[in-house]
Amino acid sequence: MSNRIQIFDTTLRDGEQVPGCQLSTDEKIVVARKLEELGVDVIEAGFPISSPGDFLSVVELSKAVNVGVCALTRSKKEDIDVAAEALHHAKRGRIHTGIGSSDVHIKTKFNSTREKVLEQAVWATGYAKAKGYEVEFFAEDAGRADLAFLAKLVESVIAAGADVVNIPDTTGYCLPHLYGKRIAYLFEHVKNIHKATISVHCHNDLGLATANTIAGLMNGARQAEVTINGIGERAGNTSLEEVAMIIQTHKDLEMTTGINSKKLYELSTLVSEMMRMPVQPNKAIVGANAFAHSSGIHQDGFLKNSENYEIINPADVGVPSSSIILTARSGRAALKHRLELLGYQPSKPELDQLYDHFLIVADEKKNVVDDDLITLVANTPLLVQK
Ligand SMILES: [Zn+2]
Repeated sequence: MSNRIQIFDTTLRDGEQVPGCQLSTDEKIVVARKLEELGVDVIEAGFPISSPGDFLSVVELSKAVNVGVCALTRSKKEDIDVAAEALHHAKRGRIHTGIGSSDVHIKTKFNSTREKVLEQAVWATGYAKAKGYEVEFFAEDAGRADLAFLAKLVESVIAAGADVVNIPDTTGYCLPHLYGKRIAYLFEHVKNIHKATISVHCHNDLGLATANTIAGLMNGARQAEVTINGIGERAGNTSLEEVAMIIQTHKDLEMTTGINSKKLYELSTLVSEMMRMPVQPNKAIVGANAFAHSSGIHQDGFLKNSENYEIINPADVGVPSSSIILTARSGRAALKHRLELLGYQPSKPELDQLYDHFLIVADEKKNVVDDDLITLVANTPLLVQK
């Protein structure tokens, strides 16, 4: 089995479902071109039957990029017909069709039975396949589905022509080891599983989307469905930048992606600004504080060797440099470092004197900035200036 992980980006479909984050077709094209440059393998561009805007976006994105373009459908004839039409210009089009697979979805969402759902799934897969595109089947709420039934469903849709089968944890319910076991179970029990790529699509309701995605990949899945900044329904989807950097950082996983990590920060900022959806400062990889050090002990250790407190070089994700934030908790090492960046070379007694003055300023202000340091130096007569 190849260890190359396909990155399926759904920022423009699942991510765009967030209230207030809707983008125009032109804006989607800008993001899609950047996603292509970033190195994603497939872009899910919309749900064509849901609105004329989504239909148009799938049409225009299909023209605009050379990577795979995917259109979402329910397992209904009219959905698949409209998606196929929207994908007409795609260099590599994919229809993403599917149906609920858990008993709760089967009974209360579809008022149906396992047998009827299985029949519908096989029919929809075959019908989509006949359109001449790649077909991905999603078994909605697979995280809570009966495993034996899920295995039967997966085997049946692969037999019907599915190229990719998506095993979503739609509700973000699973624990990583159990989600991983679900994927492993499918590899053990689905006879034709090697004819398709297994995909993982996790939601973050319990903060486990990334962990579950990695668990799925470790158990044989070879496609990860992700969004920039982890945006998506409710608590969001798996974050693209987290999955990409976990794979890049942990060589022991023996996996690769096509992602150029140096473009991650740029994409994060673009999507955040366009969707007017701020990134939380402590967000892994792309948050404003992801490479900022503020406590004295950490600053001292970081300045001696960045590897003491950083496992990723900020330049690898496109962040220009780490930052040393000066607060009342900072020590002499951090103050000296920031003074040196401003061109000052304080001696030991000068630094001691400056540090006493610095603490007074830092107690008054939360964050001591360069202008404060310049004033501090000007008001410290002992100092031999640059
Ligand atoms: Zn989803």
